[in-house]
Amino acid sequence: MTEPSQTEAEELRREAPELDPEMLARREAALRHVRKFGDPVLKSRAAEVESFDDGLRTEIERMGLLMDDAFGVGLAANQVGLLRRFFVYRVSDDGPLQALVNPVIEWSSDDEETFDEGCLSLPQVVVEVTRPAQLRVSAQDPFGGPVKLEAEGLEARVIQHELDHLNGVLIIDRTTRGQRREAMRSLRELGSGF
Ligand code: ZN
Repeated sequence: MTEPSQTEAEELRREAPELDPEMLARREAALRHVRKFGDPVLKSRAAEVESFDDGLRTEIERMGLLMDDAFGVGLAANQVGLLRRFFVYRVSDDGPLQALVNPVIEWSSDDEETFDEGCLSLPQVVVEVTRPAQLRVSAQDPFGGPVKLEAEGLEARVIQHELDHLNGVLIIDRTTRGQRREAMRSLRELGSGF
């Protein structure tokens, strides 16, 4: 078994620190719970969350732990096989875990930025994605309360990446044709069985 590269442990651009064997084992275990490219759940649109019960909050907490173990910045419900509209993210190591349920982009800037993105569901793929630089989002919190937020920089990028997941859209759908072709080749070489 080959050692995972750094990009494999990223969702977006968070650098994985030097990992001791225990952290590495935890990361690999976490990544095994993340659905990978080829799984139809990643190409499906997730449904609105209607009941804000303990089950939802438990799932959010579980996804937060999984994301941290995997050294991810964000994780959408589709990625753990749940077709429901919510995701978690944490843009800095000591920042709070954010969970947005039924998120909607109310406004995004004409101003765009292009950055490399990776995805926990697309091992070893890093492609350039151009996205609006700022946005306003409305959503609900895990108890169903209203959330309004403005985001820019990495946070705006993570929110758009995760919201794409809820709509069945992946980074390879958002990059150039050339980078998509290269990404598909490297995914095929990994032999994920698709
Ligand atoms: Zn992703």
